Amino acid sequence: MGATGTTPETGGPAHHLPPAPRKRRAPGDGTAGATRTDAMRETHVTTLILGAGAAGMMCAAHAGAGVLVIDHARSPGEKIRISGGGRCNFTNLHTAPGNFLSENPHFCKSALARYTPWDFLDLVGRHAIPWHEKTLGQLFCDRSAKDIIALLRAEMSGADLWLETTPEDVAHDGTGFRVRLDRAGQKVIVTARNLVLATGGKSIPKMGATGLAYQIAAQFGHRITETRPALVPLTFDEAQKSVFAALAGTAVDSRIACNGTAFDEAMLFTHRGLSGPAVLQISSYWREGDALSVRLCPGVDLFDHLRARRAEAGAKSVATILAEVLPKKLAQHLTGDWGVAGNMADQSDAALRALADRLEGWHLTPTSSEGYRTAEVTLGGVATDAISSRSMQSHLVPGLFIIGEALDVTGWLGGYNFQWAWSSGVAAGRAIVTG
Ligand SMILES: Cc1cc2nc3c(=O)[nH]c(=O)nc-3n(C[C@H](O)[C@H](O)[C@H](O)COP(=O)(O)OP(=O)(O)OC[C@H]3O[C@@H](n4cnc5c(N)ncnc54)[C@H](O)[C@@H]3O)c2cc1C
Repeated sequence: MGATGTTPETGGPAHHLPPAPRKRRAPGDGTAGATRTDAMRETHVTTLILGAGAAGMMCAAHAGAGVLVIDHARSPGEKIRISGGGRCNFTNLHTAPGNFLSENPHFCKSALARYTPWDFLDLVGRHAIPWHEKTLGQLFCDRSAKDIIALLRAEMSGADLWLETTPEDVAHDGTGFRVRLDRAGQKVIVTARNLVLATGGKSIPKMGATGLAYQIAAQFGHRITETRPALVPLTFDEAQKSVFAALAGTAVDSRIACNGTAFDEAMLFTHRGLSGPAVLQISSYWREGDALSVRLCPGVDLFDHLRARRAEAGAKSVATILAEVLPKKLAQHLTGDWGVAGNMADQSDAALRALADRLEGWHLTPTSSEGYRTAEVTLGGVATDAISSRSMQSHLVPGLFIIGEALDVTGWLGGYNFQWAWSSGVAAGRAIVTG
């Protein structure tokens, strides 16, 4: 089966890149470890890595000799470049298996334990890249995400990198892989003992995400779990949207809970719905029809606070007092919407209790999400039950490795997804070297 036929989920056509000029040569066209049997027509390598993203490049840095990395983009690591607002939140010091979603929550443990955030930080230090901790253990580059791309390119300098190259057909003959590539308009056959799928998930198709790894994995008998956009803003019906539009740009600390999981972070009102870290986080747990339970001012006992303020400032309006702990626009909206009028002195204990309860359990029901267009990651992917958690190698096809976001391992917001890319890439690279 051709690897660029139809996608298993949509049945629609997979991506087709516009043909690049025929004479253009991709950069990084070395021959380290590669044997060419017919100039530009058939090449043998030990390891062919599909995808020069975070996981693919990290794997290339650890996979020993004879590695070829291909990518259909013009530059490697495009998602790294735009990540973390251009500063790349490259790991999280508090990374633990509990920060990942997967059908098998134990799967990520081995790789994360054998290549930790401290290992990556050590690498960052060796490349003299300045960094800082922003919040909650999230580490960012001081200068630019390009520093991380440069680090990876330097680390994988022993490997060949072919850009503007697309896999067209993937086959396994019992001993090795045979992959037909379109390299800037030229057809090339690459044979390899090992094939690493590192083409990521489906988020942000504009940046070249294709879901190709799912298709190739399925071709070799791997199950693909349900995939859906995650770390994504949530959208609402028209009535709710117009309310949020009036609050657009307002951010507020909140605890958002859904399906037994809660996040304490900022929530942001937008013209289309809700965004901000707390909403992106909870989007991985939310399903159509579910309500979010939003607690405003987490950490404050609102009933006690309101009673204390009634005693101290009874002549002030409820909206004014709420604006001491909430953004003014939001305080005005909520008191208006909930019909809470008058001064603090007018409020009975029961009225203050009812108000506090509403502020601590504001129920909002999104209708949908912004989808893959803006999702930071894809939830789900290649099921881990037929993958070795130690090496990322397929139990079904020897020499087939699957790493990074393509697998059914999805991290929280905050540097966890890159740490998974590093850890799973290193696990596969080391396994390839040790055979
Ligand atoms: C806007 C944004 C910001 C983010 N910020 C952060 C952050 O700060 N911290 C964090 O931890 N995570 C962040 N993430 C998530 C993180 O980028 C991904 O989890 C991570 O890049 C996954 O690594 P990967 O190597 O598995 O896949 P990718 O990095 O997506 O790499 C896949 C590669 O495969 C190539 N490819 C895909 N299809 C094909 C094909 N058919 N043929 C050839 N090549 C193909 C792509 O061009 C790409 O280079 C962010 C994501 C987005 C979208």
